Amino acid sequence: MPPLLQVESIEKQFPTRSGPLDVLRGVSFSLDTGQAAAIMGPSGSGKSTLLNILGTLEAPTKGRLMIDQRNPFELSEKDLAQFRNQRIGFVFQEHHLLPQCSVLENVLLPTLASPGHDDGTRRAKKLLDRVGLADRLDHRPAELSGGERQRVAIARALINRPALLLADEPTGNLDRATADKVGTLLSEIHREEGTTLIVVTHSPELARRFERVYRVEDGTLVAAEEF
Ligand code: ADP
Ligand code: MG
Repeated sequence: MPPLLQVESIEKQFPTRSGPLDVLRGVSFSLDTGQAAAIMGPSGSGKSTLLNILGTLEAPTKGRLMIDQRNPFELSEKDLAQFRNQRIGFVFQEHHLLPQCSVLENVLLPTLASPGHDDGTRRAKKLLDRVGLADRLDHRPAELSGGERQRVAIARALINRPALLLADEPTGNLDRATADKVGTLLSEIHREEGTTLIVVTHSPELARRFERVYRVEDGTLVAAEEF
C-alpha cells in the first residue's frame, strides 16, 4: 500500500526585506496510515512552516506533497478547502475555539462546511466523552481549564474522521502534569481512530510516545538520535 503521507524534497523560501530566506531546504519522509511521528527542533527552525505545508495551508516553493495519493496543491482552491476540511485535522498551541460557542458547537464547527454527516452530533458527543468532557457540552471555552480546552480542540480536529492529524506544540501552553495528560490522550486517540499523526513538540516526554522522532536541522528533517 502506498504511504498515506509522502513528502518529496520540499523546499520553502520566504521573501524578506533582507532577501530570500530558505527555511526548508529539501525535506523528505513518508508515513503510513495510522503511524505517528514527533518533530522537534529549536524555535525558528521551520517546524510550523513544515506543518503548515503538510496541512495544505501553505504551498511549498519546490517539491511534492502527496496525501492519500493525491497532490493537494493541484486541486482548485474550492476543492483544496474541501480536501483540507475532510482529510486533515489541526490542533494548535492556542486552542482557537470560538468563545461564543458551546463546547459541543465548537466540536461540530468543521461539519458545517461539509454537511451530509447526519451522525455529527452523536460523533461529537462520543468524542467529547472519550476526551473526558461528557459533562461539559454546554460550557463556553472561558469556563474550561487550559487542558480541557485542548481536549475540545482534539475532539474538534477529529470530528470529520481526518486521515491526517497535525498538532503544532499542542501542550506548549500547559503545565507539565496537564501536558502529560493531553499528550497521552493524543497518542492513544490517534491509534483508536486509525489517524496518521504528526506532533511538533519541545517535550522529550511527549516525543518518546511516538514511533518516529525527527528533528528539523538546517532546513532538513533528520531522525533524532538523542533528545
Ligand atoms: P518554528 O515553528 O520551528 O519555530 P517557523 O516555521 O515558525 O519556526 O519559522 C521558521 C523561520 O521562517 C523563522 O525564521 C521565521 O521568522 C520565518 N518565517 C516564517 N513564516 C514566515 C513568513 N510568512 N515570511 C517570512 N518569514 C517567515
Ligand atoms: Mg512553530
